[in-house]
This record gives sequence, C-alpha cells and structure tokens, in this order.
Amino acid sequence: MTLPAPPSALLEHASLFLDLDGTLVDFAMTPDGIEVCDNLRGLLRHLQSSLDGRIAVISGRALADLDSHLNLPNLALSGSHGLERQRASRDEEAPLPSQSVIMATAAAHAFAADHKLIVEPKPGGVAIHFRGAPALEDTVDRFMAGSAVRHGLILQKGSMVRELRQPGRNKGDVVRQFMQESPFSEGAPIFLGDDLTDEDAFRASWLVLIAPRPPSTAFPMSRPSKTGWGRGGDEPFTLANRKLPSQRACGRQRGDRLGLPAAGRRRPPLLFTPRTGTA
Ligand SMILES: [Mg+2]
Repeated sequence: MTLPAPPSALLEHASLFLDLDGTLVDFAMTPDGIEVCDNLRGLLRHLQSSLDGRIAVISGRALADLDSHLNLPNLALSGSHGLERQRASRDEEAPLPSQSVIMATAAAHAFAADHKLIVEPKPGGVAIHFRGAPALEDTVDRFMAGSAVRHGLILQKGSMVRELRQPGRNKGDVVRQFMQESPFSEGAPIFLGDDLTDEDAFRASWLVLIAPRPPSTAFPMSRPSKTGWGRGGDEPFTLANRKLPSQRACGRQRGDRLGLPAAGRRRPPLLFTPRTGTA
C-alpha cells in the first residue's frame, strides 16, 4: 500500500514531539555513547523558531541525562517515558523515587553485575541494557518480569533494553499535557518515534513516523526496519517498508534522514519529506 504524503501546510500547524534514541540519533552500545552533533542542535533550534516554540523531545532517558546530551536550555523536554517534564521555561515536574524503585534498582544492579550488563538508574525506575549481549534477552526478560511483579512496577520493553518504572504519566499522557498548554495547544500533535516505548505517544498524536533501524552487524535487529507515515489516535497506524543506509558519521544523523528541514532555511514549505513505499 502506498502511503499518501502529509499535507504541505503541516509546518504551519504542527506541535512537534520527537523521540531521541533511534529517531534523532543512532543507538550506541551504551546509553552514554550516543552522539548529538551541533547540526542536530541547529536543526532543533531552527524548528523551535519556525514552530513558535511548539517542539519538545520526549525520551525514556532520565530528564537530567537528556538535558545534558541535548544541551539546549530553552527546549521543552520530557524524560523517563513521561514521568519527568521540563517546560521551555525550565520549571520541572519529577516524581520522588518510591521504595519499590529503590529496591528494584538494587536488585537490578546485582543481576547486571552477575551478567556484565549495564544498569541505567532513573528517578522513577531502572533500566537494564543488553545491547552488548543480545543472547541474554530471555534471561533479562524473565528477571525484569519477576521484579516487576515483586515490586509492583510497570515493565517497559525497548530496543535491547528492559525497564521497570513506577506507575504514573507515560509518553502519551505527557504529550496530552503539553497539548493543554500554550504554545503547544495552538498546533496539532505530531510525534516521531521508533520503538515500542513510543506507542503511548502515537495514540495521543495525529501523525506518526516510525524511524527505521539501520542495518548493522554491530547491532543485531530484533525486527525488520520499517518507516512510514501513519495515523495515530485510536486507529492502528500503517507502515510502509523502507530501508535506509546507516549514517553513523557526525554530520548526517538520523534527524537528517527523517526529512526535517535543514537548519538555516526560513519557513521551508514542507516540514517533512513524505516517505512512501509499498508494503
Ligand atoms: Mg527511540
């Protein structure tokens, strides 16, 4: 099926929400290994200006971690899959870590030490990364599923990562919350993401782009690369098969391949390049 192009006037009405890992930047072997280049920062600044501030990065990373990687002080952010939020004015909302999260984090550290895996503690949860040991996926799944039940936490699956988080706001909820406030309420919600962790946000958005996973021998893919325009909301979105070459060099990051306008252009006629193909 060929997907129709998005409307050419989309730029004029978009409130843009962007995932980071796997969407704007390539995955790295460790959470700290990602590379955020100046040209991506320039692009985000440009979009912030073009969209009159209606742009936010919505990530599973802890807010402080996301903030330090992006280093864009006036950009609205959400971390920990929606649990944490920071408006462009920099006022923050963050949960206090619960006793359940503290206990689950201690257990995750012990498990990860036994299996030489990476733990990523967050204010409202804890993640275990197994990108360096993909054969341990089932082992990590079993441990984290058991820990979720023991501690009353939510299990969140992602690309080579499993995370436990305390109940609360998810990515979809935080998109809805931004959309109730100015300047976001003056636009239409559009979310760009790539992973299972983005599905709550897809349901809160009008248009969706699934960014492809780059073919790479270093990072075995757990599912085929797909990308395409679709429709969020309550209806299932449709994907078109499309594979793009991996571009790991700084200077051409994932953000460039999504068809977002190049920094420096004023008012490009189309916010996104339509991705069409056959499935
Ligand atoms: Mg992602």
